[in-house]
Amino acid sequence: MTVPTDKTSDESRRERSFPADWDMDTLRANWVEHLERIFRDIPVPIPMKRVIYQVERTPLHQEIKARWNDMDGDERLRSWKRLLEESAKVLEDILPVCVMCGECCRRGSPTLQLEDLDLLRGGRLPWNQLFTIRRGQPVRSPFKDEVSFLVDERVKVREKPGTQECVFFDHATDQCLVYADRPAQCRAQACWDPSVAEDLARQPYLTRRDVFGDIELIVELIAEHDRRCSFDALKEAFERLASSDGQNLDEIVDLLAYEDHFRHFLGEQLKIPPESLDLVFGKSLADLVPLFGFRVEEQADGSKCLVAEERGAPGEAG
Ligand code: SF4
Repeated sequence: MTVPTDKTSDESRRERSFPADWDMDTLRANWVEHLERIFRDIPVPIPMKRVIYQVERTPLHQEIKARWNDMDGDERLRSWKRLLEESAKVLEDILPVCVMCGECCRRGSPTLQLEDLDLLRGGRLPWNQLFTIRRGQPVRSPFKDEVSFLVDERVKVREKPGTQECVFFDHATDQCLVYADRPAQCRAQACWDPSVAEDLARQPYLTRRDVFGDIELIVELIAEHDRRCSFDALKEAFERLASSDGQNLDEIVDLLAYEDHFRHFLGEQLKIPPESLDLVFGKSLADLVPLFGFRVEEQADGSKCLVAEERGAPGEAG
């Protein structure tokens, strides 16, 4: 692989300094800059982070890291050159296999396919870490940076609050906690070749009909909940709110209150664990109002207020 030679003045200045004078941080910064130039100028079909991860696992890198402070100037120069050679070798030889760098797991959790049903039925994927995205809800395509509205529902692994990171990704070890039983979408993740995941996306997705199909009562209640408390109903109510200059706030408040009652009353009656309600009925409408620029706030007396993020206009929500 030929390394491009056109460099910014900053890059040239930094490289003119001698490796003998570098500490470990400077060595790493220069090395990353070197890789960035390669990735900027040559179409490399893999993320740079993966190359860094793979080089960092080599004995050469580990030796340099351990001994850099004890090396004299000549040895540092030789080590720097060997590090660049090793990086080029990794780039040329990198195998098309997952090195478990965790990048995919930090960027989103998997959506389940029909073939994942056995993982649920066998108890190998915990139900309480799943939720349903219902028909009509907006979703972002993992292949294109586009939002679309679901024409059928999806069952998905939860993400950690406030992030896109999969709940099964363990930060301490950078490992998947369910690796042996990870869903099909995770198995198909190949950052060097997105066509594998794109092929899988054409296969049937898992729905609640597949999960609960043999429990007639649950299926009927899911259908009833979708009829009375659909995402479309929430969306249309917010559209009317916008066009009526806030006149029909009560309609939204009533819908949220009804849905809250529906979920919790039936959850208790059917002994559905609270942490599994998001799988059975999807995320609550109250959890989805931020999509419309509002939030639900719980008051000290247990009542709930609907608050516009910008305007702060409250309304009772149950
Ligand atoms: S299930 Fe495991 S492999 Fe899949 S995204 Fe989550 S942590 Fe990563």
